Amino acid sequence: MIIVIKPDASEEAIEQLKNSIQDQGLIVQDIKGGNARMLGLAGDVSNVSPDTFSRSDIVESAFKVREPYKLAGRRFHPEDTVVSAGTAKIGGGHFAVIAGPCSVESEDQILSVAKDIAKSGAKLLRGGAFKPRSSPYSFHGLGLEGLELLKAAKQKTGLPIVSEILSQNHLDAFAEDVDVIQIGARNMQNFSLLVEVGKLKKPVLLKRGLSSTLEELLMSAEYLIKGGTDQVILCERGIRTFETATRNTLDLSAIPVLKQKSHLPVIADPSHGTGHWHLVEPLALAAVAAGADGLIIEVHNMPHKALCDGQQSITPEVFHHLMKKVNRVREAIKE
Ligand code: PEP
Ligand code: MN
Repeated sequence: MIIVIKPDASEEAIEQLKNSIQDQGLIVQDIKGGNARMLGLAGDVSNVSPDTFSRSDIVESAFKVREPYKLAGRRFHPEDTVVSAGTAKIGGGHFAVIAGPCSVESEDQILSVAKDIAKSGAKLLRGGAFKPRSSPYSFHGLGLEGLELLKAAKQKTGLPIVSEILSQNHLDAFAEDVDVIQIGARNMQNFSLLVEVGKLKKPVLLKRGLSSTLEELLMSAEYLIKGGTDQVILCERGIRTFETATRNTLDLSAIPVLKQKSHLPVIADPSHGTGHWHLVEPLALAAVAAGADGLIIEVHNMPHKALCDGQQSITPEVFHHLMKKVNRVREAIKE
């Protein structure tokens, strides 16, 4: 932590401040240069807030120089985390694509999509049973029945399942039935939900909030890990910008930035990231080229009849071609 001292501070007041810091077991380095005077604090400052010092009359500002996410960050965990769910692995050189409809609508729909995506090389099946919708009049998913249909599709295909949790009321059902618990963009900062989901010690897919910074995303991952799980996948799913041509702006630079700052696997969601089915493939390929450890893609057998996000859903045929191109890009960037 650095404390910047005001130019008119007296030596006596500075000494008093230094002594009070040393009394907390910290090491103080007095840095003088030109008109600047700063105190550098070393030792365990994890529980020391800069606010404690910024209140002082002689302090201009105080700030931490290290990232506040110790568990999600690479500094104390340099090796990549590999997230395992059933037969699938993501991170540390393992690449996996998650595919399936935005929402589970019927047994026929989820089974037919699951079989098709498995044939094309997807490693996990996605499907929303509980849907967060902007309108209270929209389809909100089949609920627990949707989880049952996902389980049936898993039994038939062997694909582990990914589904979004909306409420703490469903923790038991998700603990039992879901292989990777998705925390959606709208709940990225639902801190009490993060803590409770973390306690389940299961793999979690954490999506970036609509207008969240990468530091905020990593702090939410920190909640999950502190809660109890070390199996967290980060997902860039597009953020709100001034641009209206796409539903969101897929922030491709988030992929290498997150991979540099964190040991957790990073995947991209070009479906919500663009909002248009024909943009899914180019952005999927770009995300892979940018170093993503995987993708999550909305696939529907009849996108024009989908009850949720049909305009951004691709057909199983388009998905099949996309997977072939994804493999070619992965081959091309291999070291
Ligand atoms: C979803 O995956 O269907 C979803 C609602 O995603 P997000 O939370 O990123 O909007
Ligand atoms: Mn969706």
